[in-house]
Amino acid sequence: MNKVNNSMTGRRDLLKMLGLGSVGIVTASWGSIEPPASIPNSTNGLSPLKIKNVKAIGTAPGYSNLIIIKVETTEPGLYGLGCATYTQRALAVVSAINNYLPEFCIGRDAENVEDMWRALYTSSYWRNGPVLNNALSGLTDALWDIKAKRANMPLYQLLGGKTRFAIDCYAHASGRSPEQLAERTQQFMEEGYRHVRIQQGGYGGVGTLGSNPDFKDAEFGMAKDGFMDQRAYLKSVPIMFETVRKKCGEDVELLHDIHERCQPMDVINLCRQLEQYRPFFIEDPVSPENMYWFKQIRESTTVPFSMGELFNNVNEFLEPIANHLFDYIRCHVSQIGGITQARKIAHLGEWFNVKTAWHGPGDCSPIGHAANAHLELASWNFGIHEGGRFSEKEREVFSGCPTIKNGYMHVNEAPGHGVDINEEEAAKYPISNRAGNWTVRNRDGMIITP
Ligand code: MG
Repeated sequence: MNKVNNSMTGRRDLLKMLGLGSVGIVTASWGSIEPPASIPNSTNGLSPLKIKNVKAIGTAPGYSNLIIIKVETTEPGLYGLGCATYTQRALAVVSAINNYLPEFCIGRDAENVEDMWRALYTSSYWRNGPVLNNALSGLTDALWDIKAKRANMPLYQLLGGKTRFAIDCYAHASGRSPEQLAERTQQFMEEGYRHVRIQQGGYGGVGTLGSNPDFKDAEFGMAKDGFMDQRAYLKSVPIMFETVRKKCGEDVELLHDIHERCQPMDVINLCRQLEQYRPFFIEDPVSPENMYWFKQIRESTTVPFSMGELFNNVNEFLEPIANHLFDYIRCHVSQIGGITQARKIAHLGEWFNVKTAWHGPGDCSPIGHAANAHLELASWNFGIHEGGRFSEKEREVFSGCPTIKNGYMHVNEAPGHGVDINEEEAAKYPISNRAGNWTVRNRDGMIITP
């Protein structure tokens, strides 16, 4: 990847002839030796770089459909990879990438990432949806990868260098009972984690709380639809926190995801009860459709909040951040516009002391995790990294995955974001149209935001 191109080799030969030695001296010598007129100073002597091919690679080595974009360039062997994972509609993203991006991108400059982002964003006229957002994020993140490879630097260097030696992560503990959860939390603490998210059952306690709902007896909806007993959930969460705090003590930070499943006033009452257990943050207390409740929620409790997993656009963050309505920026980087846009939200957060907590469960590929991690290394207002534990199968498909030790994530120091894909291995795990079941109903059958 770090191939020196023909023009660079030519310059090196010329300098050798002049007795000026190594490439290192070339770089340091721009002040005194003018590059050829045909190569602009701004590229440090590298020749123009065009996009030669764009394609989607779908793979599911774990439980999620993962989508990767590969961008090949006119420099032999130089390519970039970006995560475009929208696991619930993976085949639609693959179609958007393979049917629209090659014609749009081939022959364009691979260096101008911001220009490419805006060109793609506006090219569909109607915009701001998850399928196209993921396609353009994956494409432009692949261009960031290419740029960093060409610079022969890890990506975080292009984003401003490190602000910390490694990245604090939180693990996911779940259990069918508060006691099981406490045991699992203890295990993560023994592995070195300082932050653990605690969930009893599925989101909203699905699977562990409540009896057979009336809508199922009435044969309303589909047999596989989920059921959430909101009253049982609201009662269970303080008990869960109390049990885990008692067993695990004060030396662990506890997180919890409401996953937008409660009514605003119920959120306020719940969070007031949780204050005594000092949660690190409560995630997505209400759905984005209820943002107008946030001021009242904020004024009613001291519990910190993370918000924005379902936001689609950087503009949605402007007003809440400027009004300090939540403490942690929570969005899926390949949904919000990739590194190009996520770093703008992170910078916006700097002005208001709002930190980052990018979305990172199993439907974020190792390449997506690496993108999050490089942003986190370079952002002083980084808050916490979600997940990042990869299975053996995932590591066979993706080489160079970030690693976790003592609860800290480390990226490898290879040029770019550092993660590659083995396409033969990836093909062993084809993606499917399985979308998971995100239909959740109340007792009478009313659908709850999932
Ligand atoms: Mg969440």
